[in-house]
Amino acid sequence: MFGSMKDDLTATFEQLKQEGLFKRERVLQSPQDTVITVAMPDGTTREVINFCANNYLGLGNDPRIRAAAAQAMEEWGFGYASVRFICGTSALHRRLEARMSAFLRTEDTILYAAAFDANGGVFEPLLGEEDAIISDALNHASIIDGVRLCRAKRYRYNHADMEDLETQLKAAKEAGTRYRLIVTDGVFSMDGDIAPLPQIVELAEAHDALIMVDDCHATGYLGPGGRGTAEYFGLEGRIDIITTTFGKALGGASGGCVSGRKEIIEMLRQRSRPYLFSNTLAPAIAGATLRAIDLIEAEPERCRRPVELAARLRSALVDGGLDVLPGSTAILPVMLYDERRALAMADRLLGEGIYVIGFAFPVVPRGRARIRVQLSAAHTEEHVDRAAAAFLRVQ
Ligand SMILES: *Cc1c(COP(=O)(O)O)cnc(C)c1O
Repeated sequence: MFGSMKDDLTATFEQLKQEGLFKRERVLQSPQDTVITVAMPDGTTREVINFCANNYLGLGNDPRIRAAAAQAMEEWGFGYASVRFICGTSALHRRLEARMSAFLRTEDTILYAAAFDANGGVFEPLLGEEDAIISDALNHASIIDGVRLCRAKRYRYNHADMEDLETQLKAAKEAGTRYRLIVTDGVFSMDGDIAPLPQIVELAEAHDALIMVDDCHATGYLGPGGRGTAEYFGLEGRIDIITTTFGKALGGASGGCVSGRKEIIEMLRQRSRPYLFSNTLAPAIAGATLRAIDLIEAEPERCRRPVELAARLRSALVDGGLDVLPGSTAILPVMLYDERRALAMADRLLGEGIYVIGFAFPVVPRGRARIRVQLSAAHTEEHVDRAAAAFLRVQ
């Protein structure tokens, strides 16, 4: 049987290669950092400046985070080999849940193995076929999958289009739905823009809807205290459900959570399938994430760095004639539109010692290929200026 599947798969790979859509993984020979060692196609290795990690605060290989992970492992062991409700809930897990709630200024928090699981498990226990989910068209894949796993009616509004959101809210209400949940990324990973949360809150109040924000690309650095999109807009406590990750700014290992209204979190503990049927978070991750939050609260000025450095790079690239989508986050999308051009430019930049990735379909829509540059608090001005010079050389 596999023979014919093998032929079909091989043909698909050929097709992807022809379209410039085949993904090849570059292999790192060093820990994650702003300067890393990567294996080059010719078999040599090279030191490059990394501009494509979600390591917004540079904590991925921070010695204090490593020490916290080691200490948690000493104290709590390597693994619990259990889901939470059997024997996988330690005082350390509870401490992280309470700490996340205090940090995000929410009522309660539930941990997941990944934010992908948080989004996969958040909808189905809360919403049924009499309810509606109204989702931004550019929401993350894990939200799309989570929505598919739930029986609620689906409405989609054009990206950040508040008129369309209102139209969809009205349509959902007219359809006689019981609960309506507006779902949006806080910061959109591919476009680097921030959801218009003040208007979303207004519309939710006017049309009697709940709000969920996936803040994976914001938690840890956006807002004066790095508490994310709600803090950025002064809307803490107004968001019913926040999902976020520990795999980006907060140390970058893995894990995620849902944080928000306490009855919602309780229902997820009772019914959320990725929580009930998947292993508890490793203690090293819980301990390191706790330390990451301590560091953010002790050094809030660190949160401003990625956005400041992004602004510096943006103005250099735009002055040099490059097409950069507008925004004020740590994500800079340099638009090339053509798939092959984006991937070729990323290759040439690697040759210049600048590690960035070209993004093409299906990660972004066809004809919207780009190079996404991500800044970190651990980058220096010199790193940024070298990146700008390299972009202008290869464009
Ligand atoms: C990265 C990301 C996720 C997935 O997070 P993991 O913890 O890596 O599973 C979910 N949503 C958004 C918006 C993301 O950017």
